[in-house]
Amino acid sequence: MPRDLPDAQQKALFATGHRVGDLAKELFPGGDEIAFDSKNFDGMACRTRELIDNGVSTIYEATFRSANGFAMVDILHRGDKGWEMYEVKASASVKDYHLWDAAFQYRVLRACGMEPLKVAIVHIDNSYVRGEELEVERLFAIEDVTEEILAMQEKVGMRMQAFDKLLSGPEPDIDIGEQCSIFYDCDYHGHCWAHVPSPSVFDLYRMGDARKFEMYRSGIVRYEDIPDDFPLNPIQRIQIETAKSGEIHVNPSVIETFLEKLCFPLNFFDFETFQEAIPRFKGQRPYMQMPFQYSIHILHENGMLEHREFLGDEHHDPRRELVERMLEDITPRGSIVAFNRSFEISRIRELAEAFPEYRDRLLKLAERFVDLIEPFRGLGYYHPDFNGSFSIKSVLPALFPDDPELDYTALAIQNGGMAMDVFGNLHRLKDQKKREEIRRSLLAYCRLDTLAMVRIYEKLKEEVVHGDDR
Ligand code: SF4
Repeated sequence: MPRDLPDAQQKALFATGHRVGDLAKELFPGGDEIAFDSKNFDGMACRTRELIDNGVSTIYEATFRSANGFAMVDILHRGDKGWEMYEVKASASVKDYHLWDAAFQYRVLRACGMEPLKVAIVHIDNSYVRGEELEVERLFAIEDVTEEILAMQEKVGMRMQAFDKLLSGPEPDIDIGEQCSIFYDCDYHGHCWAHVPSPSVFDLYRMGDARKFEMYRSGIVRYEDIPDDFPLNPIQRIQIETAKSGEIHVNPSVIETFLEKLCFPLNFFDFETFQEAIPRFKGQRPYMQMPFQYSIHILHENGMLEHREFLGDEHHDPRRELVERMLEDITPRGSIVAFNRSFEISRIRELAEAFPEYRDRLLKLAERFVDLIEPFRGLGYYHPDFNGSFSIKSVLPALFPDDPELDYTALAIQNGGMAMDVFGNLHRLKDQKKREEIRRSLLAYCRLDTLAMVRIYEKLKEEVVHGDDR
């Protein structure tokens, strides 16, 4: 069956995994690496055996092949008492599936006559704060999981037998279920979910998976299948009603209450951030959200609209310059309008911690935020095309379906995740022309985020003024 291809964000995750894996080797320097050869797994296993027999102390990607298993150990190290096995993970903690992964590898090794005395998961320690230099020993945490791995061996054996049986039989006839996204979204999502219509109960706003699958299994899939007396929250009910009627739901008093909170000039504001597993700058923690860009559209009471923006230098920590420019660019009075303000407020509070000299001024900004998502979540305005999502990427095209100026899909960078990956990798790009092009795309993307908010605000205002005429 056809498998979903990895998207740009998944590829970026793989690249992070490789970089983290390479860096972790420095914890056990001087080892020999088994080169990956997809056409010759046996050759990789033979080379590993050769190195072991030759008495080497550390092997990276040590490869083992048993009758029904294949394992590549990230780091196999000969300690004082015997072999030790280290699995490197780019995450900030040990997850259940890391243990299953290591337990499987351990079983394959044992079947090949190798019984490591220690099994450990090497993962990122996100409490580490980088100083002038990166300290690899402090960036990584090593968790000894030997006991857990030994205790899992019987279960792993049973699972391997079950997998063997499964692989030798016909394609199993299993319907979609909670298993489709337990750890990650399954690669076969596109294939197995093709029969689920849109919209369906799986789009219902903030309904837990268990309940959605319970409905699905009892034959309730489309909105038309949902009985009238089925218990739903008010947003879910409006979602279904508008989908059936095709009409927009408007509650002007909710919109009015929101608009009354706003003070001119209105600063429509949006941050972009990047996150890195391996911190590049002094004071940076692994995976911390690093603001590198903002866009502000300032709407004055007389209708004049100004645009201000900042995009940091990809080679340096952009935060100090961003703070200084932001404090100049945001007007001294008036509301700061964000879509889902908790994100922007959290970043501003973190910046206040990082730059105590600007702390008071930054914290004062945090008090001025107003959230443009509020009138939507409060059911002041619901369009059937929101399909249970109040993100700006759902709201904007529903409100302005044919406006090329407000079309994210026409941009090279179309969402915050892409902006994050692109900026995080920009310093690696040698081609100056290409770098400039990407920087222009980043500016265009962030600019649209705040222009979108201006247009959404105007639309809400229009609803209150002209709502009765519709
Ligand atoms: S987990 Fe779900 S999506 Fe993946 S193969 Fe099974 S049914 Fe299909």
